[in-house]
Amino acid sequence: MIIDTAAFITAKDRWQQDEMDDIELATQLSLLDNSDKGKAVPDDIVHEDEDLAKAIEESVRSSVPRSSRRNSDRRQSYQIICDVCDGSIPKKEICKREFWNQHFCRRHVSDGTPICCGCMRLKGANTEYINLGDMRNICPDCFATSITNARQKQSILDNVIEFLRLKDVEFKVHVPVFLVDRREMRRHTRRGVSTGMEHIQPIHPDSVVWGLTMFNPDESYAESVESLSRSGRNIRVEQRKYLLNHDSHITVLILFGLPKIMTGAIMAHELMHAWFRQIGVFHLEPKVEEGICQVVAHEWLDWFVVMDEEASSSRSENAQFTRNLKHTFKDLVEIDSSHAYGEGFRDAKWAFEKWGPHKVINHVVKYGTLPQ
Ligand SMILES: [Zn+2]
Ligand SMILES: [Zn+2]
Ligand SMILES: [Zn+2]
Repeated sequence: MIIDTAAFITAKDRWQQDEMDDIELATQLSLLDNSDKGKAVPDDIVHEDEDLAKAIEESVRSSVPRSSRRNSDRRQSYQIICDVCDGSIPKKEICKREFWNQHFCRRHVSDGTPICCGCMRLKGANTEYINLGDMRNICPDCFATSITNARQKQSILDNVIEFLRLKDVEFKVHVPVFLVDRREMRRHTRRGVSTGMEHIQPIHPDSVVWGLTMFNPDESYAESVESLSRSGRNIRVEQRKYLLNHDSHITVLILFGLPKIMTGAIMAHELMHAWFRQIGVFHLEPKVEEGICQVVAHEWLDWFVVMDEEASSSRSENAQFTRNLKHTFKDLVEIDSSHAYGEGFRDAKWAFEKWGPHKVINHVVKYGTLPQ
């Protein structure tokens, strides 16, 4: 039997030139078993209209981003300079990355400009992005916070396990967690995935699956990325195969190379699935289960920024960067429009706030529903 409990979030990364909906879907990271896939909610790409253009100009005026500072003449006339091509952005083409103060021409979303798989900023004219070797690119800032060896992976995993323990989510048997590339993730999801009582659903080959919890998987091994190092614009990875015939029957896969804070949030989400399986809870409604997993990941993001020594020190540039990543990922969870992940999250969040995590999780385990 296979119950593959998918998956934190996916994105289509092959974009159609003329299909803005698809582009939005790709950028905003649509959710996996999303019944209204394709109906993307507005993302951090903000579409320009008259009011918005004014608002953006206001924010440019007040914050004076790097791009505007470069050309004081243009700044005088409040022109917005594109971070990607360094040109002045036509008024109807202004796009903006929320939380990052990045402005760019809309055409760069579909003209092959690399997009960071962590912060989702487009590659600027003077930045070099790193090729992760599996159709993903990452900016140097995000890569600087990537998990690059087993010790770092264990440290973030310990943090997530401690966070879950405070919610009485404790693991009786060790759950192996492997960092894998997209090819390996694809090998384990190519027959589709399911959540709880949902039927197996196919996954589009271009989707990016961030995390996967497997119960009695069909595949006999997982090929994990043990370490990585940068080599110019590329990376070197050291991989190792692990047999999947362990006692717990549960294995978690997480996409490698992502920023640490993002990796931890995906771990929190997937380990919540793993815990339900470990205590024998199998047939939750996807909306209930994904909702709980999303709330746990969402709360972990706040916890991490408070608990992590570097992230909590307010002054450093790294700390500000981590906080921006936190806002980026929390926003992804909050704006999701899908039934299972989006509405599931909002329902579960309401319940967590009203009843507290212990009562909600107990109720879900006992009755399969959120307390009302
Ligand atoms: Zn999930
Ligand atoms: Zn441009
Ligand atoms: Zn980045």
